[in-house]
Amino acid sequence: MTDITNNTYSDFHLQYIAGSWQAGQDDSVNTNTNPYNGDTLVEIQQATATQLDEAYKAATAAQKQWAQKLPAERAGLLYKVVEILDKRQDEIVDWLIKESGSTRIKATVEWSTARAITLEAAGFPNRLHGEIRPSNTPGKENFVYREPIGVIAVISPWNFPFHLTQRSIAPALALGNAVVLKPASDTPVTGGLLLAKIFEEAGLPKGLLNVVVGAGSEIGDAIVTHDTPSLISFTGSTPVGKHIGELAHSGDYIKQLALELGGNNPFVVLKDADIDNAVKAAVFGKFLHQGQICIAINRIIVEDEIYDEFVERFHQHVKTLKFGDPSADDTAIGPIINEKQLKSLKDKIATAQQQGAKMLLSGEIEGQVVPPHIFTDVTADMELFRKEIFGPLVGIIRAKDEAEALELANDTEYGLSSSVFTADMEKGLRFARGIRAGMTHINDITVNDESNAPFGGEKNSGIGRFNGEWVLEEMTRVHWVSYQHKPRDYAF
Ligand code: NAD
Repeated sequence: MTDITNNTYSDFHLQYIAGSWQAGQDDSVNTNTNPYNGDTLVEIQQATATQLDEAYKAATAAQKQWAQKLPAERAGLLYKVVEILDKRQDEIVDWLIKESGSTRIKATVEWSTARAITLEAAGFPNRLHGEIRPSNTPGKENFVYREPIGVIAVISPWNFPFHLTQRSIAPALALGNAVVLKPASDTPVTGGLLLAKIFEEAGLPKGLLNVVVGAGSEIGDAIVTHDTPSLISFTGSTPVGKHIGELAHSGDYIKQLALELGGNNPFVVLKDADIDNAVKAAVFGKFLHQGQICIAINRIIVEDEIYDEFVERFHQHVKTLKFGDPSADDTAIGPIINEKQLKSLKDKIATAQQQGAKMLLSGEIEGQVVPPHIFTDVTADMELFRKEIFGPLVGIIRAKDEAEALELANDTEYGLSSSVFTADMEKGLRFARGIRAGMTHINDITVNDESNAPFGGEKNSGIGRFNGEWVLEEMTRVHWVSYQHKPRDYAF
């Protein structure tokens, strides 16, 4: 049982299953390390498929009672969670810095977006309403009930672990569902166990939220193919998302899917833009969290007339960024999450040079800290243009005019976020609406998330939307119930 005083949370070596903190029973251990200095934070004995099954059984039983609670009771629980988030802000930020390599700036942003979705979700119990629809059958009345969907499997990534997990579990629970959550292996605490502590402290009944930390090989597929969940809420890479999509439709029961996947987000600067403003935005939107954000700027596309000036000012600004220890207040760029990601960035730097991109800025990689790298003369055939980078490297592309800028922006398999800078609102709206993406921000960065605006992508960036009524619909089921008030005249 979690201490409900002001004490710092502990015991993160345990799983949270059926409302009890218990040791994992698998032979394997998740060694959770600080990506900046390599310190071991906690060692977690991983869960087995049997423990996953126990979590699903507990969730099924608890959900039935939870769905019957008065809306005010479920809302009250979420408000209590907000209070705890406020009280424990420093503790949460500290964990994000040491476990996910977040800079203090990013960790604070993450805490505040998680708080915002919790507040939004607190309003959901009272927004779970149905409809009465007209009928063309004499004597019939049509009711449309909106009900909780049941048990939801949540699989979350390591980059914004606290927020991206909370944006699934807060709405899910507010709407009367139960959750079985598998956090990413790099962030089992901030992506799961820490949230379990918070919900437990808020008084969430046992079994409604289960956090199962396990090896992909032992429970990865099983969490999706298990008979219990009605919806799989997955946030992660496109290849794993495609695999999850296949699994969700291959078992005995078809599951609904919410997939929030990768991006290759264009940031377009048109010739009439305020260049200073565009430069500041480009720097923040590219380098926040070392570029490891699904909606981070992945390509900067600049109209020919202002290309050289933009590149020069961007270069001057990026040169001033401080990189290194993420706990320092003024660090802009902290460590890369793990060695695999680090290797992929080293490979991307080498490939960019081989493919003829001009390296304008680079620096020595120390430990897992990669200094900012800027490449110019990037073209549409290069890897920097085509692939999701997920690091502090950026390619700048020249577009001969607005039409070519739009063509380049859309030349990707992804469709998550995007930006365009212009002084002309008509032009901005026209350009924005021409982009095939779920989100476009005019005169702002690609990195935006508001709890009441639809967040999500199309093409290989996924299916479905988070936040506001979009997630409310996704995490509920509609049930058409009709009442025949007087006997019908059947044909035979
Ligand atoms: P990932 O796909 O490697 O992992 C995501 C989650 O899936 C982790 O919890 C991982 O353990 C789990 N997983 C891996 N294999 C699995 C399997 N076979 N079955 C079940 N679960 C499995 O992604 P990542 O490296 O953690 O995150 C980075 C990626 O996520 C990037 O591509 C990024 O763009 C994307 N992302 C998207 C959004 C969004 O909202 N669209 C947000 C954040 C990250």
